[in-house]
Amino acid sequence: AGGVDAPVVEERVATADGKRIEVAANVGGEAELEPAAARGADGIGLFRTEFLFLDREAPPDESEQYEAITAALAAFPDDRVVVRTLDIGGDKAVPYLDLPDETNPFLGQRGIRLSLGTHSDLFETHLRALLRVAASEHGDELAVMFPMVTQIEEVESAIERVESVADDLESEGIDYAVPELGVMIETPAASYLADALAERLDFLSIGTNDLTQYVMAVDRENDAVADYHDPLHPAVLRAVDRTVSAAEGRDAWVGMCGEMAGDPDLTELLVGLGLDELSMSAVTVPAVKQQVQQTATDTARELAAEVLACETRAEVQTVLDGEEK
Ligand code: PEP
Ligand code: MG
Repeated sequence: AGGVDAPVVEERVATADGKRIEVAANVGGEAELEPAAARGADGIGLFRTEFLFLDREAPPDESEQYEAITAALAAFPDDRVVVRTLDIGGDKAVPYLDLPDETNPFLGQRGIRLSLGTHSDLFETHLRALLRVAASEHGDELAVMFPMVTQIEEVESAIERVESVADDLESEGIDYAVPELGVMIETPAASYLADALAERLDFLSIGTNDLTQYVMAVDRENDAVADYHDPLHPAVLRAVDRTVSAAEGRDAWVGMCGEMAGDPDLTELLVGLGLDELSMSAVTVPAVKQQVQQTATDTARELAAEVLACETRAEVQTVLDGEEK
């Protein structure tokens, strides 16, 4: 497998038999834009907007958000930039936002729950900035996704908010456009509902960090149970497979933006599972691109089928190591 010293591949890549796979970067701050482009990322698969809200006393206003997202699009003028709406709560505290003190924050008010609930003002400002950027130069490459979704109603409400912000901008005479919309698949509920989500949205992006946490009932931050936080557990792999399969035949692409996507040792498996896009820390982009080019889709599919038949984590490893079960 390729290491972190793989050569940079500027152009988009395809498997040996010609299936295009987008290899994008996860970006969590403005300083990461240039290095991601330098490593040959095909755009941004996860722009973590949280950084705009951290280490300060008050939330950024609409124009500051507009500028930050514009900078991301400018760094990748020909590539898609997927912006995730504010994903706070859980492990992501923002002192001035007055988030609730909860016994189980990972099971509490986080992500879209806050955006549709107590922090809907913030969400509105956020959406105004996003819809305005969508109408600007390179704005047609903007995509927006919602985190921590568990209910179809949440998606319907989020789309209603988008439409209502569009109406406001229209009546104010401000340029806007509605970007591609998607959700993160990072809860078992979203994975079980992937068919219904794919019907309503342009794309799904699997967040294996949280999906593993919620499938495995394991706190992703607790070192004592870190072994359980393993995306190669058969249950997590089946949740990924279920998600991709549910979107097949529907007009939605499926990506992965959890840590798993950036492991070059897993690229063949992920291609075999049918992912269209992989998004990762920029540092692993060259190695994953190299792996994509060396992958044959039919062999990858056979590998995925064999892995999905495994019942234990150990069996998965045996298959990945190319040994007999
Ligand atoms: C994920 O959950 O896999 C993900 C990409 O989001 P984050 O790690 O920011 O929660
Ligand atoms: Mg997550």
